[in-house]
Amino acid sequence: MVNAYIGLGSNLDNPIGHVKQALEDLKQLPQSQLLLASKLYLSKPVGPQDQDNFVNAVALIITELEPLSLLDELQTIEQQHQRVRERHWGPRTLDLDLLLFGEQSIQHPRLTVPHAQLSRRDFVVGPLLELCPELVLPSGTQLQELLQQCPIDGLICIDA
Ligand code: AMP
Repeated sequence: MVNAYIGLGSNLDNPIGHVKQALEDLKQLPQSQLLLASKLYLSKPVGPQDQDNFVNAVALIITELEPLSLLDELQTIEQQHQRVRERHWGPRTLDLDLLLFGEQSIQHPRLTVPHAQLSRRDFVVGPLLELCPELVLPSGTQLQELLQQCPIDGLICIDA
């Protein structure tokens, strides 16, 4: 069994509803259990600014799935949310990212873990800190150290 952190994001078509439903969907993952879910946060879009703010959260699951099987499951959930991707970094109904998979570092054509943008995204670092303030990344970096390069001032918690 491995602890895996999953990032959730949505900025289209009732984003709060999509993120909450996706958390329910994660409860149905095979060979897995949802352990914790962060609060919901509002963040500014990365890239094109002519789109709505994002609603984000992070979930912690424990799983027996292999990393690529978990990615398959996450992509299936994205498809179930009628995800349409019209442009890179554009609006989306649901984005699910595999942020961390135990202490593994994975370099595969379909999967980079830790997620390549993890340390640069306040909407990932903030909810991760809420769930696990003492978290250490596979590189040995403490999650809290990321705050120096990635302040979370712009993040608004929307479900206290
Ligand atoms: P995006 O939805 O724009 O974040 O990117 C999805 C693509 O990123 C898919 O083709 C995945 O195979 C790839 N990918 C690479 N690493 C990851 C990861 N850690 N989590 C989710 N998707 C990933």
